[in-house]
Amino acid sequence: MERIFIGVAWPYANGSLHLGTLAGALLPGDIFGRYHRMKGNEVLMVSGSDEHGTPITITAEKEGVEPKEIADKYHEEHKRNLDELGIKFENFSRTSNEFHKKVVKDFLVKLYDNGYIYPKKVQSFYCEKCKRFLPDRYVEGVCIHCGGRARGDQCEECGRTLDVDEIKEPKCKICGSIPFLKETEHLFFKLSYFEEKLMEWLKDKNYWRDNVINFTINFIKSGLKDRAITRDLEWGVEVPIEGYENKRIYVWFEAVIGYLHASMEWAEKTGKKDEWKKWWVEEAKHYYFLAKDNIPFHTIIWPSMLMAHGGLNLPYDVPANEYLTLSGEQFSKSRGVGIWIPDILKNFNADAVRYYLSINMPEKRDTDWKWEDFMAKVNNELVAIYGNFIHRVLTFSYKNFRKIPPYLKRSERDSEIIEEVKKNFEEVGECIEKCHFKEGMKKVMRMAQIGNQYINENEPWKLINEDVERCKSVMHTCIKIVKMLAFASAPYMPKTAEKIWRMLGYKDSIHEHRWSEAEEINENEIEKPLPLFRKIEMKEQRDPFSLLDLRVAKIINVEDHPNADKLYIMDVDVGKAGKRRIVAGIKKWYKKEDLTGKKIVLLANLEPAKIRGVESDGMLLAVDKNGEAILLVPNAEEGERVYVDGITPSPPERVSYDEFKNIKIVTKNGLIEYNGKILMDKNGAIKIDHYVEDGYNVR
Ligand SMILES: [Zn+2]
Ligand SMILES: [Zn+2]
Repeated sequence: MERIFIGVAWPYANGSLHLGTLAGALLPGDIFGRYHRMKGNEVLMVSGSDEHGTPITITAEKEGVEPKEIADKYHEEHKRNLDELGIKFENFSRTSNEFHKKVVKDFLVKLYDNGYIYPKKVQSFYCEKCKRFLPDRYVEGVCIHCGGRARGDQCEECGRTLDVDEIKEPKCKICGSIPFLKETEHLFFKLSYFEEKLMEWLKDKNYWRDNVINFTINFIKSGLKDRAITRDLEWGVEVPIEGYENKRIYVWFEAVIGYLHASMEWAEKTGKKDEWKKWWVEEAKHYYFLAKDNIPFHTIIWPSMLMAHGGLNLPYDVPANEYLTLSGEQFSKSRGVGIWIPDILKNFNADAVRYYLSINMPEKRDTDWKWEDFMAKVNNELVAIYGNFIHRVLTFSYKNFRKIPPYLKRSERDSEIIEEVKKNFEEVGECIEKCHFKEGMKKVMRMAQIGNQYINENEPWKLINEDVERCKSVMHTCIKIVKMLAFASAPYMPKTAEKIWRMLGYKDSIHEHRWSEAEEINENEIEKPLPLFRKIEMKEQRDPFSLLDLRVAKIINVEDHPNADKLYIMDVDVGKAGKRRIVAGIKKWYKKEDLTGKKIVLLANLEPAKIRGVESDGMLLAVDKNGEAILLVPNAEEGERVYVDGITPSPPERVSYDEFKNIKIVTKNGLIEYNGKILMDKNGAIKIDHYVEDGYNVR
C-alpha cells in the first residue's frame, strides 16, 4: 500500500469553470485519485476555490459588488459542477475561510523566523486617475521577453512571471490611463537562495514529463529572483507582520499553501486532527495536477517555500498538461473564448465529456476541442462500441436468463478472449499510474472492441435455440468482460461505471471495491438494462445567442446615404477581420462628426443586405427606441469579441435577420442584458451612449 497525496490546481472563483481547467487539471487528478483508491492506496486529494487576487476584485468592480459576493457565488457553483462531473475530493476548500488564513499566517511567520522573508522598497505602478497602486492584473501591457500580452505579473504567451520593469506600454486596467512608478514597501521571499537546492532536488526527477522538467530547468537557469509576497490591496489574507496592516499577502504565495491547509482542514473534519501528517510528514508521494501556465508555481516556488519551511514533503511528480484549445484558440475568460462547464452540463452527459477529454487530453501537446469531433467520438465510439457492447450483453442476458448465467461449456477461445481483455485491463492501470491517461482510455475502448468481436463470432442469438448451455457460457464470458469494463472505466467515467454495476445486480458502489475484484463473478440477478449513452446531435448545445458574432468595430468614415434621408453609410474597422461598409438608420440622432472614431458593437456575421441600393455588410447595434442610442466599447480593441458570460460564441458564417430578431437583448439599469446576463467585452459591461429606460430591445 502506498500513500498518495493529490493536489489539483485551485480554480479561480472569478467565473465559471471551463473545459480547459477540466482537461488540464481536474480530470487527470480525478482519474488518478479514483484509480489509486480502487487499488487500495491511501489517497488524500484536495483543492479549492482560489478566491483572492486581482481577478476577483476586477470582476467585482465590473459587476459593482463586493469581492466576497463573487467568491461565494462561484465557489458554490464550482462545488455543484464538480459534483455533477463526478470529480471526487477528500476536501474541496476555499482560500477565504479562516482556517486557510491561519495556516497561511503561521507558514509566513515560520519563513520569516527562518530568515527567508525580508522587507524591501520597490517601484510599483500607480494610477493617478484611480488614486491607487495597480497590483498584478490591474496592469496590462507587453512582455519585454516575447512581445506577448502581459497581464500584470505574468505573460500569457511565454508564461514568465514579470516585474514592473519587464512590462512595456503599461495601461491601467480600470480606466485605461498610463500609470507611473511610485515607491512602496513590500515583503520579499528569498527565492534566489533556492537555485542550487532546487537543481539538486530535480536531479532524480527523470520520470517527469519532458515539457515540465525542461521548462523548470530553463526557468531556474535563467536566474531566480526574490519575489514580493505582499500587495497594496484590501482583499486577501492579512500580513501578520507589524507595519503591514494595510497590505495583503500576494495570492501566489497563499494559494499554494492551500494544499497544506485543505489537508489539515480535512483531518480536523474527519475528527483525527493529526491525520494530515501521514501525507505531509510521513512517507507519501505528492502529485500535482495543473495546466502548463501553473508549472513554475508548483515546480519552483512551492517547493522552495516547502524547503524554507522544512519538515514537509515536496512534490514527487507534477504531470502538468498542455492547453486544450477551442478551434485553435486558447481558452480565456477575459477574451470570451471558452466552453463553460455549467453550459455544457446542461446539454451533455458528464461522462461523455469526460470521455472525449480523456482520449483528447493535452498531455504532450495542445489539443483542440472540436464540436464535430466530439460528436463523432461520442456517437461512433462511446455509443456504437462501448455502450453498444454492454447494452446488447445485458439486454440479451436479462431477456433470456434474468440473471448472470453460469459457465457450463468451455471453449479454448473463451480463455483466449478473457486473457486478451485482462491484458488490456491491466494495461489501463499501468497507464494511469504513469499518468498516460489518453492511452489508458484507448485500452478501455479496446476491451469493448474485443467484446463486440467475441459476441459476433459466437452469435448467442442463434445458440439460444441450438445449444442453451453453450449460449449461457458465451454470455457468462461476455458479462465477465462487462464487469472488467466497469472497473476499467470507473476512474474515467465514474457515473457510467456505477450504472453498469447496478445493472449487474450490485447494490453498493463500485468505487468502494478493489481493482483486483474485477474478474470475480457470481450469479447475480440482472436489473433491467437501460442504454448508457445516447447519440448526440449538434444543434442542442447551442444557445441562440452563440450564433452571434459580435465584434468591436471602429467607425472610420461616415457619409450620407444618397437615396435615403435617415441613413448613413459607414466604413468600420474590425481589426483582423478587416474593414466593412454598413448602412445604419441613426442619422436623426447622431451627427457625422460625433460618430467618427467611436468604437461600436457590430453584428459581424449578419447576412449582407442591400439597403436602398447600398450593400450593408453587418449591423451596428443600437437601442430600438428608433435607434436612438448606440452601444459603445471605448476601451476595447477593434475586432475583439463582445459576449455574455457563460455562452460560448460559435457563430456560423452568416445569420439571418430573423434569427437575430428572435434573440431578445434588452436594456436594463443602463446596461445591456440577454437572459439576465450582462453583455460585456474584456473590460466589463457594455455601455449605452446615453440613458434609456429599461426593457428596450437592442437591434
Ligand atoms: Zn512573454
Ligand atoms: Zn486608472
